[in-house]
Amino acid sequence: MVELKNPLYANMSLSTQTLHASKHLLETPEVSPPIGVTTTFLYKKDSMEANNYGASQRYVYSREGRPNTTQVESTLSTAMEGHAVVFGSGLTAALAILLHFKPKKVAIGDSYFGIRRVLAQYSAVAGNVQVVSAECGYEGVDLVWLESPVNPTGEIKDISCYALRAHAAGAKLVVDATLAPPPLSYPFRQGADVVIHSASKYLGGHEDLLAGVVVSRGPAMAEDLRRTRSALGLGAGSLETWLLQRSLATLSVRVVQQAKTAARLVALLESFRRCAVSSACHVPSAADLALGRRLAAVRHASLQQVPCAEAQHPNGFGAVFSVYFASKTQALFVAKQLRLHAFATSLGGVHSLVDWRHAMDATSEPTMLRVSIGLESFDDLAADWRQALTALDAHECASKL
Ligand SMILES: *Cc1c(COP(=O)(O)O)cnc(C)c1O
Repeated sequence: MVELKNPLYANMSLSTQTLHASKHLLETPEVSPPIGVTTTFLYKKDSMEANNYGASQRYVYSREGRPNTTQVESTLSTAMEGHAVVFGSGLTAALAILLHFKPKKVAIGDSYFGIRRVLAQYSAVAGNVQVVSAECGYEGVDLVWLESPVNPTGEIKDISCYALRAHAAGAKLVVDATLAPPPLSYPFRQGADVVIHSASKYLGGHEDLLAGVVVSRGPAMAEDLRRTRSALGLGAGSLETWLLQRSLATLSVRVVQQAKTAARLVALLESFRRCAVSSACHVPSAADLALGRRLAAVRHASLQQVPCAEAQHPNGFGAVFSVYFASKTQALFVAKQLRLHAFATSLGGVHSLVDWRHAMDATSEPTMLRVSIGLESFDDLAADWRQALTALDAHECASKL
């Protein structure tokens, strides 16, 4: 078994880790890792006597492993303070966690709807898996599944609190931290047993790859996950794996910048909303006064005031937030009116996106838009919101005549 976590970089910054932590694995003199597309690797002829090729050579067939996968897992293991295993999508990664723990009773908090579908598929095969709310008692629970920040609101949960409760009940705590990758959050520090990310979001970061990552505290679970991945063919493709390695080099600058812009936009939209309901407020300009009239609520971790915020998010909250309107028609009007926020699903990439989650997830409120902030400037995005809200106000006023 290879140790992928590189202790030389344990105390260095995230950017240094993502640029250097796996370079000892490069077998050729390139500075930038090459992409390897081979599915099969030459046998070492002198070690073919026994049925144990796995022990004598690292790469045999790419479903089991390839150099690009080893490199990206090394980078992620160092950056995420655990043992990382890469899968073909976030949901495949979730399935692998269930197959590892084989839980009979799962407590799940507010979460991405796709995770519930994976649980349903697992339950159909495993038979009789009980699913209960993570906000209630944990008696008989073997696995607690928590998402923080929560998709779609962008609000956070106090991870330490769930860890204490889960461990007191003898359960394991899985944290889906897709919406706040390093350096925004490090859930092992709050007691998580396993961390999962959809790498299709911030880790990939450019809306061009599907992948998932499971990070365990110890190497034994990672080895078991790799066995499952090989047995079922759950891994990511060579291009995706290579793109992921390439994207991690800029992870730190991307997400810190995206998170800063998002927090400023949340503050701006919330100031519009407050001014529409109270005279004791400060809007940037008189023209902004009408802008908050149709905003029913803005939700994001930066508006929550929870005690765990600082410890859990040393470098900012995520760049996803949600905006609520009085009606579904208003929400859809704004989604179509925004020009720099592409009207599309997904989140975490360099392009700002706005999504009407109700189209995909019936439990999501029809008056809500999920917003994911990319790398456009704050000023340009703020101007986009101003024009969209101005158009909404004009449209509503005209239709009332
Ligand atoms: C997108 C997402 C997933 C699923 O990941 P895929 O890569 O799309 O399979 C899981 N959890 C959260 C919080 C997500 O946002």
